[in-house]
Amino acid sequence: GNVVRLQAIKDVEAYVPPAISFTDAETPGQVFGENVFNKVVMQKRLPKSVYKSVVATIENGAPLDPLVADAVASAMKDWALEKGATHYAHVFYPLTGLSAEKHDSFLEPVGDGTALAEFAGKTLVQGEPDASSFPNGGLRNTFEARGYTGWDVTSPAYVLENPNGNTLCIPTVFVSMTGEALDHKTPLLRSQQAMGTHAERILKLFGHENLNSIVSFCGPEQEYFLVDRHFFLARPDLLNAGRTLFGTKPPKGQEFDDHYFGAIPERVLGFMMDTERELFKLGIPAKTRHNEVAPGQFEIAPMFERGNIASDHQQLLMTTFKSIAKKHGMEILFHEKPFQGVNGSGKHVNFSLGNNELGSLFVPGDTPHENAQFLVFCAAVIRAVHLYGGLLRASVASASNDHRLGANEAPPAIISIFLGDQLADIFDQIAKGSLTSSKGKGTMKIGVDTLPVLPTDPGDRNRTSPFAFTGNRFEFRAPGSLQTVAAPMTTINTIMAESLDYVASKLETAVANGEDFDAAVQTLLTEIITEHGAVVFNGDGYSDSWPIEAEKRGLKNLRTTLDALPELITDEAMDLFEKYRVFNHREMHSRYEIGLEQYALSIGVEARLTLEIGSTMVLPAAVRYQTELATNVTALKTAGVDADTTALDEVSAPIADLRSALATLKSALAADAGHESLAEAEHARDALLPAMNAVRAAADTLETLVADDLWPLPTYQEMLFIL
Ligand code: ADP
Ligand code: MG
Repeated sequence: GNVVRLQAIKDVEAYVPPAISFTDAETPGQVFGENVFNKVVMQKRLPKSVYKSVVATIENGAPLDPLVADAVASAMKDWALEKGATHYAHVFYPLTGLSAEKHDSFLEPVGDGTALAEFAGKTLVQGEPDASSFPNGGLRNTFEARGYTGWDVTSPAYVLENPNGNTLCIPTVFVSMTGEALDHKTPLLRSQQAMGTHAERILKLFGHENLNSIVSFCGPEQEYFLVDRHFFLARPDLLNAGRTLFGTKPPKGQEFDDHYFGAIPERVLGFMMDTERELFKLGIPAKTRHNEVAPGQFEIAPMFERGNIASDHQQLLMTTFKSIAKKHGMEILFHEKPFQGVNGSGKHVNFSLGNNELGSLFVPGDTPHENAQFLVFCAAVIRAVHLYGGLLRASVASASNDHRLGANEAPPAIISIFLGDQLADIFDQIAKGSLTSSKGKGTMKIGVDTLPVLPTDPGDRNRTSPFAFTGNRFEFRAPGSLQTVAAPMTTINTIMAESLDYVASKLETAVANGEDFDAAVQTLLTEIITEHGAVVFNGDGYSDSWPIEAEKRGLKNLRTTLDALPELITDEAMDLFEKYRVFNHREMHSRYEIGLEQYALSIGVEARLTLEIGSTMVLPAAVRYQTELATNVTALKTAGVDADTTALDEVSAPIADLRSALATLKSALAADAGHESLAEAEHARDALLPAMNAVRAAADTLETLVADDLWPLPTYQEMLFIL
């Protein structure tokens, strides 16, 4: 027949992936940063004083001098033209979670019918895209729809290659006319600054003078699936929702663990090499790549960078991966749960703070003094995560991530901290007021030389914890694969700013009162671990007993997006974000609104797709098969043979179920849920999701019954195992 699926299988078999060959001139060392307007390029092309001024802005956040902007713009334009750029674009990160860019030509008419390549400082520094259609959660009315982009000097400009012409891309923030944040980058930059300020106060107390700015670092690990494009195009659900809304688990799943860290398929390796070359050109330090747990699933982990740059690079990585996957005849799936019953994808956010001089402040030192400093910063994390776990949960809330959190493949929705045996042991003893070395050598005080040598490698790993200490950083494992890292990073920075502020104030007061510094540190650590130790959990986060235990400890279990989002608009949360100048109350409300809107929108799309695919693909296939069986029964009867109707009955029951489930879904979609975003989101959760699940259950049963040559949708088996 003309079943799309069967044609797709033929096409996949016939497909020849493009050959990849790198010449010597394209070794990573040669291409790295080739398309980036980085410090090396600036040093070469800018007058010394201009260069110094820009570097001061990059390193220490000094305001950018407008005269300097003109000089930089001019050098940047010349460089970009040499790289074949014809246009420039301010790239920004609206609240859709995607990247947006508005392209302008360098050419400007000069009045005599000719045009000159122009690029002034003010064009570099500020733009005004008419981007009024992005979600703004009530921050902009159409009559004041103007949004402005502003250059983030700390994130370098780059040239993006495209067969149709290259573009100079300038990473920017995106704000409303009144300066309110319409994007993910603005709050990230604000929160980074707040966190740095208070970290520096603590470091001063520990005797660090003339510090360079303390910033947060982020190393994002991105998991993803690859499927052949022919299958992708034959699945309207993958195409439009990024996940399969139908499909039964393959007979062979991931239970053999034969894919995890196994040999990377040749075709995928070609894709990876190709993407890495592109990422290198853009100065993105792609490092680790390997197969993940599920078949068809892979991971890339670039080296950690300053938070805002890591975030920009992460977005760029996702766009690059998408286009290169296409070139290799594949489609990349960043959705958290593309295949039900198969492991989903996350985006672990590895977080630390520090600077180039000091490295990560989460690294235990060689001396008791350094260890005391390390423990103070760790204590600040424990306190922050305990007080604001709900906000961390809210920062990763989305309809798609709901499929993954708490499903025993990703951390539970309960936010706790894993410290590892040794660090947990130390804090345990601090809590008991009797810090004895792990070897039991007697009492000791922080800051005196009886403190044990702390582990530089924690040795044990706990994959079930949402927030784990991993030797020199904390790993936040709840973020979903589709999300930007900017939102969780903003929250981590902000709650850390508050906690560091608290710690700094306590220690400053003690010192001002003439207390012994070591004793003050000891008191503070004891207080924090006593009051906030409940958030430390080193056990199995997937176990059935953990939610019960967590409840006893008073930890929140915000299972779904709609449970988590209200955390954003508690008085406490709004005051917190306002105090550190990350969000004002209006901005917090807008994030909450957008969270609800996006939730309702994405489930709405899925519900309509479920109805469409169920009615126009699954039901017709099932009915055809039913007719075939019925015809057979009639024919047998006519021939005087005993007709067995078992198969016919077996397929008729789920067909009836499917019909009624489709009818229910249809009326749920037609129901008026009102126009309040909360009501719409609740309708999506309470009416649409259950109705979709019922359609799927019937359809998935049919998949196991209907003749293979009639089944329209590429199966899990085909999509996951043919690459
Ligand atoms: P694993 O899978 O064991 O968690 P990976 O090697 O896949 O580790 O990823 C670790 C990530 O953590 C990388 O992006 C790495 O650059 C990052 N990372 C390492 N050290 C730090 C640090 N001090 N701060 C932030 N991120 C870090
Ligand atoms: Mg990993």
